[in-house]
Amino acid sequence: MTDIERRLSGEPEEQVTKADMEIADTLGVPLENFLNDFKKCSICGKYFSGYGHNPFPFCSTGDRCCDECNNDVVIPHRIRRAMQMRQQERRMDSLK
Ligand SMILES: [Zn+2]
Repeated sequence: MTDIERRLSGEPEEQVTKADMEIADTLGVPLENFLNDFKKCSICGKYFSGYGHNPFPFCSTGDRCCDECNNDVVIPHRIRRAMQMRQQERRMDSLK
C-alpha cells in the first residue's frame, strides 16, 4: 500500500519512531511487544511492562508508574500522609 492509498483508506499512519526501536532494542524485546506492553514510568522514566500503578499524587491523570516506584515512593508517601492526617485530627480533637 502506498502512502496515498493508506491516507485514502483512513488507516492510521505508523507512529513508530526511531527512539521506540532503540528502546525496544535496549530492553531486548521485540518492537511489537514493546509498543503493546511497555509504558514509561512517570516517576523514574524507566520502561516497564504490564499495567503499572497509579502514581498519585506524583502525576497528572493517566500516568502510570513502575513497581519499584510504587513500592519505594508512592506507597510510603501515602502512608506518611495518612499518618499526618491522623495526627492533625488528634490535635483538633484535643482542642475541643
Ligand atoms: Zn519508576
